Amino acid sequence: MFLGAVGIMLTYEWRLALVVVVFIPLMLLFAIKKRLNMTSAFAELRKRIAEINGNLENSLAGVRVVKAFANERFEKQKFDDGNRSYRDSMRIAFKAIAEFVTGINFMIGLLNTAVLTYGGWLVIEGRMDVGSLMAFLLLVNFFMNPVRRLVTFVEEYQRSMTGFERFLEIMDTESDIQNAPNALEVERFKGDILLDDVTFKYENDETKVLNHMTLQITRGKTLALVGPSGGGKTTLSHLIPRFYDVTEGAIKIDGYDIRQIDMKCLRRHIGIVQQQVFLFTGTMRDNIAYGRIGASDEDIIRAAKKARIHEFIMSLPDGYDSAVGEKGVMLSGGQKQRISIARVFLKNPSILILDEATSALDNETEIQIQAALDELSKDRTTIVIAHRLSTIRGADEIVVLTDRGIEEQGSHDELLKNEMLYAKLYNAQFKGFMPDRLEA
Ligand code: ADP
Repeated sequence: MFLGAVGIMLTYEWRLALVVVVFIPLMLLFAIKKRLNMTSAFAELRKRIAEINGNLENSLAGVRVVKAFANERFEKQKFDDGNRSYRDSMRIAFKAIAEFVTGINFMIGLLNTAVLTYGGWLVIEGRMDVGSLMAFLLLVNFFMNPVRRLVTFVEEYQRSMTGFERFLEIMDTESDIQNAPNALEVERFKGDILLDDVTFKYENDETKVLNHMTLQITRGKTLALVGPSGGGKTTLSHLIPRFYDVTEGAIKIDGYDIRQIDMKCLRRHIGIVQQQVFLFTGTMRDNIAYGRIGASDEDIIRAAKKARIHEFIMSLPDGYDSAVGEKGVMLSGGQKQRISIARVFLKNPSILILDEATSALDNETEIQIQAALDELSKDRTTIVIAHRLSTIRGADEIVVLTDRGIEEQGSHDELLKNEMLYAKLYNAQFKGFMPDRLEA
């Protein structure tokens, strides 16, 4: 339309057509300049929305803390501030759009005026007839249609593009942990774990959490990690499923460097029971089946029985179909823990990592959970981050980990004979200083 209209105008009256053509670069220049303004304004807007969402999510997720400290006013103030700065950015963005749209419209008006004035003069001079001028004015509008459409398009494009760029930025973020090319698939691990001279520090952090540490865990055995908090127990347990990669040295399972093993395969063979259990909105059945998606009902029930949660589930009106979460049954810490144990029974991994619950459970629950965990760790290589003495006695080996590294290592009896840190921690319990907790 654009090119065609210009062509026809040139054949009608080339001098008048020239007036129109002169306007094109002017409009183009204006559009480019305003487009830049719009880009930065929209990018700013996105940032503000992200900030508000982030803050809001925090305030809502931490609503109990907010209430406990009676800080509702403070949170509201934060939200108000966020909204205000969002409104300010919105104002700038809308101003940029307004300037762009009205500017282009103003130029179109100006062009019409110029054509009418010059064309009118040509008619008065007798060099052009009125009919041609009318046709010309129609052509100008014909020529402007695609321009108008382009203007609307640019505005929408700008809005969407800033969002799309942000999306690409997130999608293009590469994980630090990458699968090795030609990664190994292993059918089943026997479960011999070796930490071979492992040094680890977190990225952007100077201190080494683990320093040249060597540790062997024989298949099927249970190793308990104890020691003061901050000693690196959790970090060590996160290195085995490759949530982080070691900085130096290597971790080997059955002699394979874990970096050579396909990551999904590696993680399929490792079961983790954490203190904080995450339950998905859905039924009890769905939540247990998360351990092995697509598991049969029989397998799910068998796992629930082993995890000592079957009877509780059956006592609910809808049994395994009972909803969990916000709209369903509220579960106690101990019940959640048993569901997570059932998941791992279903998964049936050869390696097990247990981050023992620190919070006090009632006696009965604790006995049930302990029994379930004992059964779970049977015939699996197990690493327990132990906070209680009861678990440790059953461990084949105990490692006392402090920020100086492995301080002591051996069986419960050996360590007691050593009369060092472990014995001190252990004896303290009986003197009543540290009821049931091993972390100093
Ligand atoms: P433990 O489980 O024995 O209490 P952790 O493994 O949690 O010890 O922590 C060991 C050290 O690593 C601590 O000094 C802690 O501050 C640091 N640390 C833990 N997690 C991170 C992380 N994600 N980023 C940086 N430092 C961390």
